[in-house]
Amino acid sequence: MAERLNIAIVGAGIGGLTAAACLRRFGHDVTIYEQARSFTRLGAGIQQAPNAVRILFALGLEQKLRASAFQPDANLSRDHDSGDVTNAQELGAAIEGRYGVPYFLMHRGDLHAMLADAVPPEIVRQNHKLDGIEQTGGTVRLRFANGETAEADIAIGADGVHSIVRETLHGPEKPSFTGRVAYRTVFPTRLLGGIELDSCCKWWGPDRHIVMYFTNPRRDEVYFVTSTPEPDFGVESWSAKGDLVTLRAAYDTFHPTVRGVLAACPDVHKWALVVREPLSHWTEGHIALLGDACHPMTPYMAQGASSSIEDAAVLGRCLEGVGRDGIAKALKRYETTRLERTATIQRTSAQNTWQKNATNPDWVYGYDAWTTPLA
Ligand SMILES: Cc1cc2nc3c(=O)[nH]c(=O)nc-3n(C[C@H](O)[C@H](O)[C@H](O)COP(=O)(O)OP(=O)(O)OC[C@H]3O[C@@H](n4cnc5c(N)ncnc54)[C@H](O)[C@@H]3O)c2cc1C
Repeated sequence: MAERLNIAIVGAGIGGLTAAACLRRFGHDVTIYEQARSFTRLGAGIQQAPNAVRILFALGLEQKLRASAFQPDANLSRDHDSGDVTNAQELGAAIEGRYGVPYFLMHRGDLHAMLADAVPPEIVRQNHKLDGIEQTGGTVRLRFANGETAEADIAIGADGVHSIVRETLHGPEKPSFTGRVAYRTVFPTRLLGGIELDSCCKWWGPDRHIVMYFTNPRRDEVYFVTSTPEPDFGVESWSAKGDLVTLRAAYDTFHPTVRGVLAACPDVHKWALVVREPLSHWTEGHIALLGDACHPMTPYMAQGASSSIEDAAVLGRCLEGVGRDGIAKALKRYETTRLERTATIQRTSAQNTWQKNATNPDWVYGYDAWTTPLA
């Protein structure tokens, strides 16, 4: 019988939870250590393209996704003031026909809750902020701010863009601020007072944009997210409040539909957009990184979380049937299988041209992390 490895995952975000579900599927014991005391449902939407959705379906989430997520008929790109359509990417039945699974838009909290439900609650240890990590003789030791310690055969750093685990591999280095912020919020569609919205649309201005879509099949909640130049902003927090007057002024040359949505919006949060250059490596011995911890990117292709979901599936496959003496090699294999693809997505996303005009998304959406050849 294959050995069951004892795997510690740091961070119960979308990447960490998906990794836990995948690693358990391949027969390993997993504990997730999360700094937060509880999960909060913040006002944000998330797009899940077929490359992520085929993994989520395989983890048993098909029914829940089909019931609670929205399937837009198209993703439109529009010029910011004229509203002229520069690209219309067919989604809905067309995309499911092409890639075998749908394209979903949903509330980020709903996706996180589904993934949290996909693992036993007792393996998620909240209020465990990682303070230090080291490895000796094939054992990884983790130290937490609450005074507890833990040992594992493997530690996966899924602790986000400010990853402490990343620091142990690459030293302290802050991610770089792009000089841009994302204003984002989810609010009831009824507040729009009859403004007609496309099911999913990005309005492209010369140096800023705004994306809008519904987050559920009832279309009773609408989400928007911007990329807005604000070089002086530096707060990296989910909970920073945005100023609606500043936001509305930043989009006052946009089409009346955009201005109408911003006028109707009751409240908004603000998030600094930070990035890193692709890293040279993600693993050392029995420690590996996953998700934003190793490949944070601009949200302009809506592929950050999807990439972390792909990482999780490939990581699980690389550790299938692996015993203690094969860990370092299996983690290197994971890194080698994933690094080039995620670096390409990071670089492509940074250009912010994805889907502005006709774009063939096959290389992104057609990727199957369950079958892609392992390095
Ligand atoms: C404005 C915006 C819009 C986006 N839209 C999309 C989209 O539509 N589609 C998409 O696929 N992606 C999108 N993304 C990207 C996506 O949000 C991220 O790529 C994704 O959340 C990364 O997941 P993660 O699990 O790697 O990291 P995170 O979500 O950051 O999770 C990290 C977890 O680790 C925990 N943690 C951190 N430090 C410690 C510690 N020391 N000890 C213990 N726990 C710790 C955190 O509390 C958190 O729970 C968007 C991003 C932004 C900013």
